[in-house]
Amino acid sequence: MARLVLKFGGSSVADMVRIRQVALRVKREADAGHEVAVVVSAMAGVTNQLVGWVTDSCRLHDAREYDTVVSSGEQVTAGLLALALQNLGVNARSWMGWQIPVKTDSVHGKARIQDIDTKILIERFAQKQVAVVAGFQGLGPDNRVTTLGRGGSDTSAVALAAALNAERCDIFTDVDGVYTCDPRIVAKARKLAKITYEEMLEMASLGAKVLQTRSVELAMKYRVRTQVLSSFVDKPGTLVVDEDEIVEKETVSGIAYNRDEAKITIVGVPDRPGVAAAIFGPLAQSAINVDMIVQNVSADGHTDITFTVAKADLDRATAALRDVQAKLGFKALKPDPNVVKVSVIGVGMRSHAGVAQLMFKTLAEKGINIQVISTSEIKVSVLIADEYTELALRALHTAYDLDAA
Ligand code: ADP
Ligand code: ASP
Ligand code: MG
Repeated sequence: MARLVLKFGGSSVADMVRIRQVALRVKREADAGHEVAVVVSAMAGVTNQLVGWVTDSCRLHDAREYDTVVSSGEQVTAGLLALALQNLGVNARSWMGWQIPVKTDSVHGKARIQDIDTKILIERFAQKQVAVVAGFQGLGPDNRVTTLGRGGSDTSAVALAAALNAERCDIFTDVDGVYTCDPRIVAKARKLAKITYEEMLEMASLGAKVLQTRSVELAMKYRVRTQVLSSFVDKPGTLVVDEDEIVEKETVSGIAYNRDEAKITIVGVPDRPGVAAAIFGPLAQSAINVDMIVQNVSADGHTDITFTVAKADLDRATAALRDVQAKLGFKALKPDPNVVKVSVIGVGMRSHAGVAQLMFKTLAEKGINIQVISTSEIKVSVLIADEYTELALRALHTAYDLDAA
């Protein structure tokens, strides 16, 4: 007998037929004598619609009410799955975040889980009851419902698996594992049997939305055996594991892209000590995160600084900078939302030279201009024009020898 957490994403619970299929899958584990907690997302498309209603009603909305509205999708699926399980004769009960409770911090819309009380769920396991938990939601210190950021049900599942000391956390989704690149864009992408926590963390934070970044952080911290697999076909998925479990280390194991960033160039900044602090200070004060940064060589005592922020923050960032334009004395501000960040990732990079060079050469051969570059020990990222996303991903995938046979 094992204790398992199974998570089903939006496409897996998209309608009543699929919810019934999920119930059959859960029943299999319960019949095998396992203690099972299921975490569900809202039906596909529902969260987007709820977010749309909130933003339509008010652009600068109250984050607490945003959470009240957008958390509701998961409540519906949790109830429906509990009913579907009961129809199959399985003892099942639904749980909202506040009922367990899943305690979070107070950052509405993007809360972090702080503690999960597992007492009630463990009592119910002893009564052979399956727990169906609404993902994506928790309870804040203000006693109100919080949500964990888009894609947050993955984090609910991994956090619950860690708290319950579960043997495994299975993330069921619409692809049968983690691929070398998004299989919807690169048809030749290869499924990985295993990927390290570290690489998965980079892939997720660099845009591969197959797992929410925070869920991988938690899986890594608490060593949760996490598997990504298909809810439609019955075969093993991708295991996220420690580095020493991987025998053959590829130099580059994956390529990710992120269309959620925008570029800002500040033209003609007087090049003197303290100017970078003066630019990035107001952004930090407005809680705007800056990602990639490049400063040009100075000419005539002036320089250009280019950096990226989340697309959602672009308007606020330009407004904050215009406020300090006179004080800083720069000439112009050029916002550009039509960019994409493309990254190659691999732990093998630590011991192999030439990875970045191959990336630059491949993009140059396709006539793609690189606007900003950033690197870390196990990744190289470049910013390019959005229109070249597909071309760049496919060319890099081939260049790094990742194409499926
Ligand atoms: P769910 O609703 O089940 O949480 P998501 O849409 O959040 O599913 O995540 C699955 C999607 O992630 C896939 O449909 C795929 O397009 C995308 N994806 C991006 N990068 C990758 C990758 N490297 N491997 C697998 N899927 C990826
Ligand atoms: N339903 C939420 C979303 O769409 C959470 C999730 O699916 O993980 O972001
Ligand atoms: Mg998801």
